[in-house]
Amino acid sequence: MDIQKNIKEVLAQLPPQVRLVAVSKYHPVETIEAAYGAGQRVFGESREQELSRKQAALPKDIEWHFIGHLQTNKVKYIAPYIAMIEAVDSYKLLAEIDRQAAKFGRNIPCLLEVHIAEEDTKYGFTFGSCRQMLEEGNWKELRHVTLSGVMGMATNTDDEEEIRREFRSLRAFFEELKAAFFKNSEAFREVSMGMSHDYPLAVEEGSTMVRVGSKIFGERAY
Ligand SMILES: *Cc1c(COP(=O)(O)O)cnc(C)c1O
Repeated sequence: MDIQKNIKEVLAQLPPQVRLVAVSKYHPVETIEAAYGAGQRVFGESREQELSRKQAALPKDIEWHFIGHLQTNKVKYIAPYIAMIEAVDSYKLLAEIDRQAAKFGRNIPCLLEVHIAEEDTKYGFTFGSCRQMLEEGNWKELRHVTLSGVMGMATNTDDEEEIRREFRSLRAFFEELKAAFFKNSEAFREVSMGMSHDYPLAVEEGSTMVRVGSKIFGERAY
């Protein structure tokens, strides 16, 4: 695996305003060091223990994004250092992130995970439940989190039109929320969508942040 070459290839396909989150889950510290050596500074992980171990071992100027399902009882372990939590899927989790961030005098940027795929999953807000949570308004009292946008995953399919439709629906939902709740928020600006097999489509449909793993690091070992 020529990691440096892979990163260059992905970056060459991204417009300057789209950021690359290199998804390093299941890959060892040495592999991440190779990507770091190639200039990559933003990495995504989806399991707390694995992330905390890597964070301790690697340079401190890495921006770690938590991209997986996060249990509320794990928030305290990543709160001291996490740069962004991308998959907030309940008000309860958002409130816990706020509580733990306060302990460390931090403010943690968060994305609202929205379920856009055909596939069933337990995780992610529906459009309706996300609107409802924002309308209820309790989040406005939270001083140690910043709502920075939305995140979603398209159906794992070869049907490009289906994938595009899903990405388009997330981008449109972002615009709706921006107008309804975040008109004056500079921070609410991210649409995190696009993975190894579909990031070029995501970029065309208005992604601001792609999360690419296997295309950079190869297939995961397990
Ligand atoms: C694993 C993962 C990715 C990266 O997937 P690849 O197909 O390896 O690029 C992106 N987003 C989330 C939420 C993931 O869990």
